[in-house]
Amino acid sequence: MSPDRDKLRSLPSVERVVQLLGPRAPHRSMVRAARRAIDKTRGLILDGNDVDENTIVAQAGELLSLSERARLHPVINATGVLIHTNLGRVPLSDDQLDAVAAVASNFSNLEYDIERGRRGDRYENAAEILCEVTGAEAALVVNNNAAAVLVSLAALSAGRDVVISRGELIEIGGEFRIPDVMNASGARLVEVGTTNRTHLADYQKAVSSDTGAVLKVHPSNYRVVGFTATVSSRELATLAHGHGLPLIHDLGSGLLATDEQEAWLSGEVPVQVALADGADLVTFSGDKLLGGPQAGIIVGRRELVDRIKRHPLMRAIRVDKMTLAALESTMASYLTDTYRKLPFWTMALASSEDLATRAEALRRSLADLFERGAKVEAIASDAVTGGGSLPGQRLSSWALSIQAPDLAVSDLDRRLRHGSPPIVARISDDRLVLDLRSIDPRDDDLVADRIRRAITS
Ligand SMILES: *Cc1c(COP(=O)(O)O)cnc(C)c1O
Repeated sequence: MSPDRDKLRSLPSVERVVQLLGPRAPHRSMVRAARRAIDKTRGLILDGNDVDENTIVAQAGELLSLSERARLHPVINATGVLIHTNLGRVPLSDDQLDAVAAVASNFSNLEYDIERGRRGDRYENAAEILCEVTGAEAALVVNNNAAAVLVSLAALSAGRDVVISRGELIEIGGEFRIPDVMNASGARLVEVGTTNRTHLADYQKAVSSDTGAVLKVHPSNYRVVGFTATVSSRELATLAHGHGLPLIHDLGSGLLATDEQEAWLSGEVPVQVALADGADLVTFSGDKLLGGPQAGIIVGRRELVDRIKRHPLMRAIRVDKMTLAALESTMASYLTDTYRKLPFWTMALASSEDLATRAEALRRSLADLFERGAKVEAIASDAVTGGGSLPGQRLSSWALSIQAPDLAVSDLDRRLRHGSPPIVARISDDRLVLDLRSIDPRDDDLVADRIRRAITS
């Protein structure tokens, strides 16, 4: 056996490098840094160099420092809000990132038809798998869901009326307001019904020869309870189709129907159900319940999707190859029924018992702080999916509640935010609360370490 082969065999494993680095960055970042450092070393060995373990660890550490110094850097989300728009919505898995890296580090068939040897369609590859998973006739991907709604309305009903229930004139995250998006599209907003009750007759009265579409919007981030009435998608579809109009359903969250759906998801309409209920177009985000990259996805009737595709706005809101690669990987995980491994679903589906065990283990690992007068408790908590999905639906969770001696809770909060990596928690009842459902279990040691340093420094 050649000496090179021996040296290659003695390279440390990714886990070993991560272990030697010690908890200093989110686990996913450390694994990636370790893998790259080992890969680089492999090249050096093949070039005849000697490389020892320490050099590899130092290299991995360098790579981590680079990302820590970047203005945009990883943060630990201890808020219990799983889809946190301010913290970048959902993390991506290694598989999703590898798909991005493969396409982004090379030329690709982004807009090239390999078979025919000529210009191709940017959206075709993603459309194919989107249709396969959702059962839709056609699909299109744009920058985000706001853009999906905007371009759909612009292409299908600019200069015409779009009928919508007053109960669905929603605002999401400050920048996205349905009435503003409708105005920007050139469509005329025709509100029907009232905030809490809208009936089929309200829509019937509003539809005229000036109408371009009927719009249904999922009230993603709030619920109207009490004396309420809404018109079902099926009834709306029948009405719209009777007048030769399309029904556009803005779903927002992008839940896909799967074989075993958790009961707590019952408040969300899956994409396939919205289509089966008669919507001609369904729009949703890529980075909410779908668990993928930021994107706006439009699925539905081919003739309508083709009209949208030809609209000049498309060029302004088009997606890049990295998004398309991550989205294809995301959809593939639904096709192969491995989507539960997507970071969002791993967090969302973690059992309450596992979270309790972690909370207790963390509490015990911080026992040395009790002597200093710190109060560290494992407490039951409520997490939420967030990001405009399942309003009012709580996910039972566990958290660490911390009170430090001689340190105001706001100071403890600031210390955790200002360290590296920053930890974003929430303050409740004069205690700092770190919800474990939004924290990668492999980051628990790092979190404990940061808490200890924040209190003892
Ligand atoms: C989230 C959401 C949007 C906005 O989607 P982005 O991807 O953030 O642009 C629009 N409509 C509904 C119903 C939503 O839930």
